[in-house]
Amino acid sequence: MTMIAENLKHLRDRITTACLSAGRRPEDVTLLAVSKTFGPQAVRAACAAGQRAFGENYVQEALDKMAALDDLPGIEWHCIGPLQSNKTRPVAESFHWVHTIDRLKIAERLSAQRPAGLPPLNVCIQVNVDAGANKSGVPVAQAFALARAVALLPGLRLRGIMSIPEPAPDFEAACAVHTRARALFDQLNADGLGLDTLSAGMSADLEAAIAAGSTLVRVGAAIFGERAAAG
Ligand SMILES: *Cc1c(COP(=O)(O)O)cnc(C)c1O
Repeated sequence: MTMIAENLKHLRDRITTACLSAGRRPEDVTLLAVSKTFGPQAVRAACAAGQRAFGENYVQEALDKMAALDDLPGIEWHCIGPLQSNKTRPVAESFHWVHTIDRLKIAERLSAQRPAGLPPLNVCIQVNVDAGANKSGVPVAQAFALARAVALLPGLRLRGIMSIPEPAPDFEAACAVHTRARALFDQLNADGLGLDTLSAGMSADLEAAIAAGSTLVRVGAAIFGERAAAG
């Protein structure tokens, strides 16, 4: 087994254990493998080990990787990095998901630029659940208006919300912040938005995120190794 295959197996065991101790079904939590800064061979190895969903932060890097891997069937590419308006077109054309919608203008561009022959682009609204120093994401109070507006765009399919909270000191604190994201997710669904994705939890806090109700965890280093530069 390759190192990446071993890491993936270990991670799937962690997710299963976290689900079982939270009384949840392991198949209800998706593992997104964050392959940013790692080359096509790393993605190929993860794919050979059964992984299909990959997360990328940098548009050009992702496009190069997609081109190098276009012989691999069934890969789902998720954009999880901040998105500027001048980069929306290639994202609308090549990705399956965008997790980082934090303003209507970006959503409108993605919707307009989504090619007619493709299914709608799956999107999540990024929410700043802990009002952290990390300023990405809309404040919770603005999430409703943004979600309602995004849900109306024909080229997009609103799937849920995404959060990147500041690192928490312990399990309880991490649960508390993830529970805020889950509460917002439930309120949006009570509003009739039909969301199925709560993108929350990374290597360090995936147990807490799963306990709070995350449906998708985003993990990079624990699969592919440490990145050379912060990314
Ligand atoms: C890089 C990144 C991850 C993965 O982080 P790791 O520490 O490598 O597990 C998850 N989510 C987002 C938004 C990221 O940018």
